[in-house]
Amino acid sequence: MVYGFVIPQTQKETQFMAKKAALGKHSKGSGYVFSFHEGDGKNKKLLGGKGANLCEMTQIGLNVPPGFVISTEACLAYLAGKKQELPAGVMKEVKAQMKALENESGKGFGDSRNPLLVSVRSGSALSMPGMMDTILNLGLNSRTLKGLIAQSGNERFGYDAYRRFIQLFGKVALGVPDERFDEEFEAVKQQVGANSDIALKAEDLREIAERFLAVVKHETGSPFPEEPYEQLELAIKAVFGSWMGKRAVDYRREFHITPEMANGTAVNIVMMVFGNLGNDSATGVAFTRYPDTGENRLFGEYLVNAQGEDVVAGIRTPKAIDQLHDEMPEIYRQLQELRNKLEAHYREVQDFEFTIEKGTLYCLQTRNGKMNAAALVRTSVEMVREGLLNREQALLRIQPELLEQLLFPRLDPGTRATPIARGLPASPGAAIGRAIFDADRAETLGKGGEKVILVREETKPEDIHGFFAAQGILTSRGGKTSHAAVVARGMGKPCVAGAEGIHVDVHVREAFVGAHTIKEGDLITIDGTSGDVYLGEVPMIEAIFSDELKTLLGWADKHARLKVMANADTPHDAERAVDFGAMGIGLCRTERMFNASERLPVVVEMIMAEGDHARRQALDKLLPMQRSDFIGIFRAMAPRPVTIRLLDPPIHEFLPTADQLVNDIEQLEHLLDTVRGMEILGDSLSLLPGGSGEKIGSLANPRIVEEALQYKIDMLGKVRALHEVNPMLGHRGVRLGITFPDIYSMQIRAVLEAAAVCIKDGVEVHPEVMVPQVCTAVELRRVRELVEGIRNSVEASHGVKVDLKFGSMIEVVRACMRAAQLAEVAEFFSFGTNDLTQAVFSFSREDAENKFLPMYNEYGILQDNPFEVLDTKGVGKLMELAVAWGREARKGIKVGICGEHGGHPRSISFCHRIGLDYVSCSAPRVPIARLAAAHASLLEKQKADHTRR
Ligand code: PEP
Ligand code: MG
Repeated sequence: MVYGFVIPQTQKETQFMAKKAALGKHSKGSGYVFSFHEGDGKNKKLLGGKGANLCEMTQIGLNVPPGFVISTEACLAYLAGKKQELPAGVMKEVKAQMKALENESGKGFGDSRNPLLVSVRSGSALSMPGMMDTILNLGLNSRTLKGLIAQSGNERFGYDAYRRFIQLFGKVALGVPDERFDEEFEAVKQQVGANSDIALKAEDLREIAERFLAVVKHETGSPFPEEPYEQLELAIKAVFGSWMGKRAVDYRREFHITPEMANGTAVNIVMMVFGNLGNDSATGVAFTRYPDTGENRLFGEYLVNAQGEDVVAGIRTPKAIDQLHDEMPEIYRQLQELRNKLEAHYREVQDFEFTIEKGTLYCLQTRNGKMNAAALVRTSVEMVREGLLNREQALLRIQPELLEQLLFPRLDPGTRATPIARGLPASPGAAIGRAIFDADRAETLGKGGEKVILVREETKPEDIHGFFAAQGILTSRGGKTSHAAVVARGMGKPCVAGAEGIHVDVHVREAFVGAHTIKEGDLITIDGTSGDVYLGEVPMIEAIFSDELKTLLGWADKHARLKVMANADTPHDAERAVDFGAMGIGLCRTERMFNASERLPVVVEMIMAEGDHARRQALDKLLPMQRSDFIGIFRAMAPRPVTIRLLDPPIHEFLPTADQLVNDIEQLEHLLDTVRGMEILGDSLSLLPGGSGEKIGSLANPRIVEEALQYKIDMLGKVRALHEVNPMLGHRGVRLGITFPDIYSMQIRAVLEAAAVCIKDGVEVHPEVMVPQVCTAVELRRVRELVEGIRNSVEASHGVKVDLKFGSMIEVVRACMRAAQLAEVAEFFSFGTNDLTQAVFSFSREDAENKFLPMYNEYGILQDNPFEVLDTKGVGKLMELAVAWGREARKGIKVGICGEHGGHPRSISFCHRIGLDYVSCSAPRVPIARLAAAHASLLEKQKADHTRR
């Protein structure tokens, strides 16, 4: 990627391009200079955003101070030349334009009685605030200064303008260090005892101006240029040069601004108007609507008898725009009129600057207003109702990702709290609560109404009840696919994972971060969107799913081709997904149901079972639990489809770790010794008169401890037997289903029986059973046979027909390559791009994200994190092939995506392009995906229309 600039090949070509781009509106001279009356207001690439808007505003009759633009092409030609010369003819044309300005304004450039002063402002195609240079009050010299003072009748104003001009020009055009001027300024302030700039009198400012002139002479070896045209030429060159200044280049690199987006800066030369010529003058900035709420009312601030800089510098507190109504009623009316005209013309909320000079209102600049998500949504809906936008435009003006602000609670951006640690932003949103170090305690306090944050080194399935009770989760280990991260995302709870700077000591119930200690019960705030952790309570903004957002997303659904499903695992998640507008469930991970606290012991029993009979007994206990979950989910989702994935993770994940068991066994052995000792003690004491030893003896029952110990020893044996070197590539998914068919049979039966119950109750259901980790059609066929057998039996016993679909996840490379064969068996495909990305890159996600991916991104080896943004070139290419092969074998086979990428806008656009039918993502991302799906369709249509034209 190039962040500098790209130079058209020859100067001739440059000029040709400029002329062509200006749609024949160019002036007759060099082709580089355009008066505001003739420049093409739509051509921001050529004239810069500011220049184009000044032209446009002039041409629609708004009161803009007269001026002209020197194009970005002139800038590129200047930068390409070796002699630091402006392109041929530019200065001649500038002079012609200045003559026109003189005619229009009735003033003279360099005229000592009625001087014309101009601003020389930068402005590229994309706004780069403060990154390039601007010079004001150009044209001032010792002669014109007198005219300015005489005209304004204000000596102080004249000298103030003069000293500001010398400093700015000296710095920008002559390269004199700012500090040299600041030193002199401070010296005079001290000398006259002024403690603020305002306290300086006309004669003080005059002395400052004189000192500044001396600084310039001393630093440059030449006197300050008096000749206005010399000033003007130097200023134009300096502004062009600032395009390649360090600030601007760094900014473009940081914000990925490429030459295709903005190449070179234009220069705008505009007659100066002054808001500081008395109490009938003012300056201000305004938005046509409120940028924080979107309310349809003029918003802004102004200062009487002031210049723009004063508003920005915060020297005086500006007044709210409503006060102008009382202070200058006629101007206020004109300002309202200006607002209406700007919106009617640009059909977008405008952020504009204005100046009132002796009772005349001028508009100095306008651009599209930057708003927060709430304001964007509200204005989109209202501007459609007002006829300013059509629905397509209303949808396209909001970047889908921005909606995240509305869907998760977030920290108030106005707060200045400093984080004590940073981990991975594993699940978005912010949460406040008391730090609690174990799930049981979190559950007890949570149920008692206390807000808690579960703080662990890492979490395990047995912590699940703590998740339910907590506001958010914080772990010091693990990545974005750690148990904590995945479960929290599924539940829509904020999570910061892998905050390695925090040392969690569960035994003493404290966590240590540098010099800080978090004791159990201390309030902490976590921000799962940024990964930051704070001590205490940081103010938050709650999520709002407003009626306007619902309306907007309703429009989005009408334009989108992709359907948007949710990843949801419980009836409660399903209800939430419906609220967010999910059109079905694209992934129900059944293992999550196994994790509920009352179920885990049964799952463990099933795993520990010796022999088929014992296993089936445990499964028989699990069956009604799964069935009731499915009934709840089907009811919440009816009549939408629900895709249920059979068990995926390796089963050892449901057991404690070997280390933990060894620890437990040690403790139980100690306990057993103690209890046996108490038993002997009881026997001995019973020999004493009074028989009190019997009581002690009855307290100690070694049998209970022995049983518990044996159970842990057996479990350790099982954990060791199940041990795998690489479990994620091992005994999991369909492999598990084939080696333990009883588990899959139980799940399939639960789905079908739940469907049958619902159908009998008159609830419309469309269940889909999906098999994970498939790599051959033979695997899929075996599971399908299982499904068909159970389906026949359930349909016969319940006397109903179930509309069940059978499908495959595509998450290993071989499945992509064998998509045609899989499609002969499967009725739908769902790309599991979390696993597929790991497989295609041969990266383990946690290791990659924790170790080298940040550096890969920094060095530009990879542009994005492929686990967040779909790698369209590699993973995407495979998907594209698999879709084509699958559809060849089974025409119209339904294909979707349920990996995390299914909620990411750019990835959604790719999914649209390769013809997927749906995307599936966590419930709170559903609105983002709905808007992104609409964008994909609309942008495709726009492109097609454009090519047709
Ligand atoms: C996937 O691999 O993309 C997927 C959805 O499955 P999981 O994240 O549960 O492995
Ligand atoms: Mg997977």
